[in-house]
Amino acid sequence: MRTYMPNTLQIDQDDPARQVALANDLRPSILGLDKAELTTIAENMGEKAYRGAQVFQWVYNRGVQSFEDMSDLSNDFRARLTDTYTISRPESVQEQISEDGTRKWLFGYRDRQKAETVFIPEDERGTLCISSQVGCTLTCRFCHTGTQRLVRNLTAGEIIGQVMAARDSLGEWPTPTDGTRALTNIVLMGMGEPLYNFDEVAKAMRIVMAGDGIAVSRRKITLSTSGVVPEIKRCGEELRVNLAISLHAANDETRNMLMPINKKYPLKDLMEACRTYPGVSSARRITLEYVMLKGINDSEQDARDLVKLVKDVHCKFNLIPFNSWPGTPYECSSTETIGRFQDILARASITCPIRTPRGRDILAACGQLKTNSEKLSVRERKAQAEKAWAEKEAELQH
Ligand code: SF4
Repeated sequence: MRTYMPNTLQIDQDDPARQVALANDLRPSILGLDKAELTTIAENMGEKAYRGAQVFQWVYNRGVQSFEDMSDLSNDFRARLTDTYTISRPESVQEQISEDGTRKWLFGYRDRQKAETVFIPEDERGTLCISSQVGCTLTCRFCHTGTQRLVRNLTAGEIIGQVMAARDSLGEWPTPTDGTRALTNIVLMGMGEPLYNFDEVAKAMRIVMAGDGIAVSRRKITLSTSGVVPEIKRCGEELRVNLAISLHAANDETRNMLMPINKKYPLKDLMEACRTYPGVSSARRITLEYVMLKGINDSEQDARDLVKLVKDVHCKFNLIPFNSWPGTPYECSSTETIGRFQDILARASITCPIRTPRGRDILAACGQLKTNSEKLSVRERKAQAEKAWAEKEAELQH
């Protein structure tokens, strides 16, 4: 079904019959398997080990969706692969295209859980924002996803499946090598806390970074965390991708209120993890995300406190005008307030661009993602959010 709205294109593709057919297909998808695992499969099927590397390249670099298309494999091997596996991606249940070109997909998985993925095209690059969990445990108060309970972690296959399905939709196979790629950057800033699902995220990102895989450089990948301090170092050592921190407050009192995880990992520990993040330098800085909330964290004193807080941290700020969502208690700071805040940081020689909101009309902007399909009123949503926050508070007090 195609629904045209004033400036927004929405394509609803939820086809129950197709969902049932997919659920009844018991063959696992090969997506998410790395080269070593594909090599083992090839050997177990009586093939030479290097056939695994060929399958890897067909799947992740050329994007084929049928084993039949793997023309340098024997007919017999292709037939056995087809009998045993699929190369199926998550189903695009809904695709929305914003008036500014931002695209948001609602991807459905085999157990009918859903998560969102957003593509943001810009002049010089195209960034895909992917999810690592269905829902989130962390209940950050300004975040729409945080009002949706954690349902489950996504697997490596479901994480990389978002990249593959987005590239299907963008028509980007095989991987262009002439600098014309539409999808150049990946950010783990969608639904969920990636460091609470690190093993699956890391496995997917290694396939994304492989030269004969999707071939996105680690310098073009950013993992965003709410501040899971013990996992930050591991992320730097094992993946060496860029790091972004959802900071959003200049002191523990405000951050405890906005982000309950701060009670477990306070600012002092978080800043130390940033200072010592492997590979960080003046040329490779950590991004500190700071959502501008009217009357909450946007005073001139907050800005001055931030300058002190990040002393000795190689970092830059992203100031994010708050993107509203149904039931939120917060408002965005005024343009003047954001400007004054930015001036104070800039005078301390801190890079601090104001992020241009993208995809607001399709709820694809930062902090707006949520797959809850319940039809709730604003008041019901607010009550649901308050309940989730209260439960989190109680949990943290134990
Ligand atoms: S900001 Fe991130 S970590 Fe916090 S609730 Fe939202 S998705 Fe979870």
